[in-house]
Amino acid sequence: MAGEPQHDCLFCKIVAGEIPATVVRKTADTIAFRDIHPQAPTHVLVIPHVHYPNAAALAAAEPAIAAELLTEAAEVAREEGIEDYRMIFNTGAGAGQTIFHAHVHILGGKPLREGMV
Ligand code: 5GP
Ligand code: ZN
Repeated sequence: MAGEPQHDCLFCKIVAGEIPATVVRKTADTIAFRDIHPQAPTHVLVIPHVHYPNAAALAAAEPAIAAELLTEAAEVAREEGIEDYRMIFNTGAGAGQTIFHAHVHILGGKPLREGMV
């Protein structure tokens, strides 16, 4: 059923506490943790507890939780002491998505002016 945990999903396992993660923030609906392969001094992922394959699917089904990904991302940045940061939603394997559980990347702590990719 939509939103239900998927047994083969790494991020569902992090939500369930079955795989360890360096958690930086938690709410009733979201969890934020450090990316295992950081691409910047701050590289945090914010995910919903519920399983949807990407952020757009989450927004269609649970708009309030999708909005919370953004407010939580801003809180992470504030707690990390970074004013300028990038949020990235990879959508589809061709765009670099490797985990098909909705998530936003927060990247910052270094200049990111060079371009989009
Ligand atoms: P995507 O490429 O799907 O947008 O992002 C998935 C992210 O999850 C990647 O940046 C990858 O480094 C990160 N990742 C993959 N496996 C793990 C893990 O076991 N723990 C953590 N914390 N991050 C992971
Ligand atoms: Zn999942």
